[in-house]
Amino acid sequence: MNVLVLGAGQLARMMALAGAPLNLKISAYDVRSGNVVHPVTLDVLGHGLENGIKNADVITAEFEHIAPDVLEICQASGKFYPGETAILTGGDRRLEKALLDKAGVANARYQVITCRDDFDVAIANIGLPLILKSALDGYDGKGQWRLKPDSDIDAVWLDIDNFLKTSPQGARQCVIAEEFVPFNREVSLIGARNAKGDVEIYPLTENIHTNGILSVSVAAGENDAVQAQAEAMFKAVADTLDYVGVLAIEFFDVGGNLKVNEIAPRVHNSGHWTQQGAEVCQFENHLRAVCGLPLGSAHRIRPTAMINIVGEVTVPVEVLQHAHVHWYDKAPRPGRKIGHINLCADNAAALTDKLRDIAALLDTTEFPAIKEAAATLA
Ligand code: AMP
Repeated sequence: MNVLVLGAGQLARMMALAGAPLNLKISAYDVRSGNVVHPVTLDVLGHGLENGIKNADVITAEFEHIAPDVLEICQASGKFYPGETAILTGGDRRLEKALLDKAGVANARYQVITCRDDFDVAIANIGLPLILKSALDGYDGKGQWRLKPDSDIDAVWLDIDNFLKTSPQGARQCVIAEEFVPFNREVSLIGARNAKGDVEIYPLTENIHTNGILSVSVAAGENDAVQAQAEAMFKAVADTLDYVGVLAIEFFDVGGNLKVNEIAPRVHNSGHWTQQGAEVCQFENHLRAVCGLPLGSAHRIRPTAMINIVGEVTVPVEVLQHAHVHWYDKAPRPGRKIGHINLCADNAAALTDKLRDIAALLDTTEFPAIKEAAATLA
């Protein structure tokens, strides 16, 4: 089977690597150049979306910030999973919030802001502190403002107003004001759903971010009640979208009660641990789902942690004595994810020791969250 992935980054690359044993041939549509490329070598295989669609049995996506006209063309082909609505919803916080409400899952109270009046009403109704997020093109904490009790409200509004007036998205852009959730930790759930509505759901991972970017994810065991809550929310959201593929949901955990932060209609960075820690990894399960193949077990076979390699950092080869390293063959740039390290152990205590061993090999300013991750397990 030939699968065309919209987007030619590391997620398409890892899908290609996971699909090879199933004889799935993955190509990637690079939305910037308009070329169809090999997701691992980036060799150009063809030109133009129509050409890519013609040669594909199935189309899927590795990111959600895709132009609506591209999504429309893919949807019209009848081969696109999880499809136009799911991708549009994942890329637009306004649609995402409406979906969460429709699915009846808990999420932060919010208000859509398009003008100063909306902004003042949000402050009056939700109160401070407020987090303000752009509806479109927001990821890894980009396009966000924080309004605290001592903030200069007029200055923040001026900035938001300027952002809205100059947005390349024009009238489609808006800002979502959200209550500040006093969470204890951030967790995420990854699961696969097929066209019949069967699901395979991985255990929750605990995520530590640095400067808005995921730093470490740990999948080492979870409270059953919290896992059950997350799975119920996953099913509600996936069923509402009639979703096919892997879907990721990020949550705030407030004293054991989950609130959805956001969804990602695709394989997700916090699911990279499944490559070594689960029976069948998220990349293979996504392909199985979108290709109509039986889903694989999402069973966690051993406690695993994933450490992101971000920016211009040094990873000594000795790390390979303890871990699996996945490079993305990308030029290092500040803030750019260029690889990740998966670390496995027989139990949580052994994983804590391994995290400490690996922290000793790495520069802790370049990998700031490893010790924190070890502390969460201890
Ligand atoms: P996001 O891009 O929505 O994932 O936000 C980036 C980060 O900001 C999250 O990982 C949280 O750490 C924090 N954050 C986002 N929304 C909220 C909220 N409503 N309350 C508290 N913290 C938040």
